[in-house]
Amino acid sequence: MDIVYRFDPNAPMELDAPRSNKEALKQLIAGNDRFAKTVEHLQAIGTGEKQHPPMIIPVNPVKLGVPIVSGLEPAHAPFAMVMGCSDARVPIEHVLDCSANDLFVVRVAGNVLGLECLGSVDYAVTQLRSTIQSAVVLGHTGCGAVTAAVDIYLSPSNFADIAFSHAVRSLVDRIMLSVRGAARALEAVHGSKIHKHKRYREWLISTSIYLNSAVTAYDLQREVNSITKGLTVSYTVYDMAWTRIAALPIRSSDDVANVPRFLAAPKHADEFIELSNQVIERLV
Ligand SMILES: [Zn+2]
Repeated sequence: MDIVYRFDPNAPMELDAPRSNKEALKQLIAGNDRFAKTVEHLQAIGTGEKQHPPMIIPVNPVKLGVPIVSGLEPAHAPFAMVMGCSDARVPIEHVLDCSANDLFVVRVAGNVLGLECLGSVDYAVTQLRSTIQSAVVLGHTGCGAVTAAVDIYLSPSNFADIAFSHAVRSLVDRIMLSVRGAARALEAVHGSKIHKHKRYREWLISTSIYLNSAVTAYDLQREVNSITKGLTVSYTVYDMAWTRIAALPIRSSDDVANVPRFLAAPKHADEFIELSNQVIERLV
């Protein structure tokens, strides 16, 4: 199968950048859907289900964010800021099918907000506010940083083995709030014996991942509000098994139609409880 990136100079160029948070999120969802469809297409061909002509992907130099004239730097003009995890399986522009110059990306393991990250956020919000319409936290399933925090929560005696260095401890400490919240919610919904279930660790990791995204979004929204007005922070989670972004767990690629793709950052503690319950309802 061929995938052809084609530039047709005579084709109309759609250059309209998103002008609102809603338009920006819509573009990110459409990008993720294109990525997921391409993956599904390739999977179907790989299993012999499909024989298809070349897949044509239209491109143009402006959309790619590269100079149209040699020797000139393009203006820095991302339409969204994305705070994501460093995990190599979640290349952010790739999974959202965005080009160079579309996204201002901050990546750190566990998508937690440390001081250096806040410096990047501050820069984006003060220097690029005229083009940035949306801020997004992107967690992901199977997150190693969240898993480490869960394992320490479940077995505190292993703390020294997993998080001995100051740097790793600072990551784990920031995630622990979400792990404790997830554990409490699982117990509240399914009773105190839930931790004996063979899938308890798996459920705790998954619930913590969605909560951790929401907690980072909450913190990020407060930070953004201290710098500018009217920039909404949303959160979502990239499901590596289904290659889709969704703010609640999905059970299949079709199930993504039943859940919100993004949710706005929580404003009150009650919203975290509600989120935990919704996540657990879809997981357990
Ligand atoms: Zn991760």
